[in-house]
Amino acid sequence: MSVFEHISFDAHEQVVFCHDRHTGLRGIIAIHNTTLGPALGGCRMWPYASDDEALNDVLRLSRGMSYKSAMANLPLGGGKSVIIGDPRSDKTSQLMQAMGRCVEQLGGRYIAAEDSGTSVPDLRHMGEATAHVAGVEQRQCFAGGPEGDPSPATAYGVFVGMRAAVAHAMGRKDLSGVRVAVRGLGNVGFELARMLHEAGALLWVSDLDDNRVRRAMWDFGAVAVDNSEFFDQDVDVIAPCALGAELDDDTCARIKARVIAGSANNQLADEARHGAMLRQRGILYAPDYVINAGGIIDIAHERPRYDAVKAREHVTGIEHTLRDIFMQAEREQRSPHEIADAIAEQRLGMTPQHKEVSHGSA
Ligand code: NAD
Repeated sequence: MSVFEHISFDAHEQVVFCHDRHTGLRGIIAIHNTTLGPALGGCRMWPYASDDEALNDVLRLSRGMSYKSAMANLPLGGGKSVIIGDPRSDKTSQLMQAMGRCVEQLGGRYIAAEDSGTSVPDLRHMGEATAHVAGVEQRQCFAGGPEGDPSPATAYGVFVGMRAAVAHAMGRKDLSGVRVAVRGLGNVGFELARMLHEAGALLWVSDLDDNRVRRAMWDFGAVAVDNSEFFDQDVDVIAPCALGAELDDDTCARIKARVIAGSANNQLADEARHGAMLRQRGILYAPDYVINAGGIIDIAHERPRYDAVKAREHVTGIEHTLRDIFMQAEREQRSPHEIADAIAEQRLGMTPQHKEVSHGSA
């Protein structure tokens, strides 16, 4: 397993393998780019099948964080960490403290936050060994929800981003009467559905969990959709809020909507191929890392002291950022995600040479 030759290596600044004999910790911290500030990103715990799978995840996700923070105009770089193990059976407070000690050794170049498989209490254990953890303050997100949970901010960002996309693609000022299909009614998707319902949108929903679907039908008058038929719905907007990589050859050909705007990370199975396919079909795609940045923006506003008004204003800025991206994409006849990548790379000080070097071995 080589790091420098790895297909997901993208000129990362630092990749640290962490091991602790007493707790059995096996983790990796990847710092992709700190041009704009310290690298903030989640600490994920997952029973990876191999070290290589864990390395791939941390390299890919840390790079994504650089782009997300750059596009959100945050003074932060991109980083991520992973702990190899099953969060249901292998997680202990001592393990999290051991990971905290590894984070501490980086002297603030990497700041950890919660992610899949870790929770705010886990991050608090990590914080017993390091000051470099975020999202652990006892405060409520400006958009509501349980204490410490940034998901409502993410949902709000997707909501305003969807407004920009619908305005651009359909010439509509608001979402009243707009038909939206939401896939995944979890922490983000359910809040998004609530905001859409309050704005007068009409909802179609799907989730593996029938209880969540029933709640959305009851609370928002949503229409339940079979999971296998989700992408065939006759709607204006598709909002993927479940898994990544769902926009592939099959779904991109089936979608009837004019807009795709959702929270899931890495929605395009193949960025170049499926981004182009959507553009050719006249479907406007809101780049995932731009539209789903509400949560990281909210967390970033914790320092030095959380200001709900400023955090809300900053997340609302996603609407303007996307509007500009869509206009530039139209002018230059390119896909919105290509425009977003180019802007982020410029802010990150990445040159064309950087891209050649980092992808030369891929
Ligand atoms: P979550 O785990 O709370 O919810 C995901 C929901 O999707 C669950 O209800 C699950 O049952 C459903 N689901 C999973 N697979 C499905 C399928 N094949 N079909 C239909 N439903 C399915 O997650 P979340 O925090 O709401 O995040 C949703 C997405 O947004 C994830 O991709 C996440 O990476 C991304 N995201 C979340 C945040 C945040 O602040 N929580 C920030 C940025 C990006």
